[in-house]
Amino acid sequence: MNYYWEDNRRFNSWTAYTQRKYGGRLQKVSLNAGFSCPNRDGTIGYGGCTYCNNEAFNPSYCNPSKSITAQLDQGIAFLKRRYKNISGFIAYFQAYTNTYGSVELLEEKYREALVHEDIMGISVGTRPDCINSQVLDLLEDISASKFVSLELGIESCYDSTLKRINRGHTFDQSVRAIKLASERGLHVTAHIIFGLPGETQLQMLNQAKIISALPINSVKFHQLQIVKGTKMAQQYLSYPKQFELFELDEYVDFIVSFTERLAPRMLIDRFCGEVPPKYNLGKKWGEMRYYQILEKIEKKFEQKNTWQGKLFG
Ligand code: SF4
Repeated sequence: MNYYWEDNRRFNSWTAYTQRKYGGRLQKVSLNAGFSCPNRDGTIGYGGCTYCNNEAFNPSYCNPSKSITAQLDQGIAFLKRRYKNISGFIAYFQAYTNTYGSVELLEEKYREALVHEDIMGISVGTRPDCINSQVLDLLEDISASKFVSLELGIESCYDSTLKRINRGHTFDQSVRAIKLASERGLHVTAHIIFGLPGETQLQMLNQAKIISALPINSVKFHQLQIVKGTKMAQQYLSYPKQFELFELDEYVDFIVSFTERLAPRMLIDRFCGEVPPKYNLGKKWGEMRYYQILEKIEKKFEQKNTWQGKLFG
């Protein structure tokens, strides 16, 4: 079978793409550059998104008291021990909102990462309502010589959901940010969460068509996880019936169906998230690691004899 993406996997894998393009895995190194979030400090809202606890996904070496260089040195040393066949690293500005600061400060942080000898580019995680022309000018300038991905938290295409989880922005703002970033030639990565309260599986599936129509290069999918220390954890413990969290097998079925409807050109960076067990108050999924869940997803593609984009369009 000749898939659109020129390898034998049944989906357009970001990892496989980097192996084809760079001759090895392009590994992201997480950073906490010390930024805050406008949805926490009152600029856009207070309290943050109801599911958010940055502590839960920040590796221990990511500490803003350390310089960007020190975090990269530590992260790269760890990742080199863990993975073989790495061709380079991307500095991943992950914690909080990484375009929330003066353009001078942003440039200082991004450039410190870019001068590191192992770093081939940057990936900047942010909110769709937190980019402006100055930030885009800076990222466009960097992208002339290095890989630059703008990672936008879309989370849902439905405003009613965005309101319910206190995101503080609308889907129209996400669309606008995606288009602006794409017009600047940036690699656009979109995050989506499945299982948010109030959404049916049909509504979730319909998002495949909506996002496929946008100039998004890569996607990261997450199942909703209930993370300790969040507003959502309080809601879940008080009103568990308001939540329909995916069981593992159900999610595998769902994500394969979703991927069948997704544009073949879109790279898939992740199919699901992994919150450390000590933070996870929701479904445990046998505490399986990502690679084990990925195996189940790939097996399901084979059993169904289907692939990304089979039902697209
Ligand atoms: S998810 Fe992002 S935007 Fe929402 S509160 Fe957390 S850091 Fe802020």
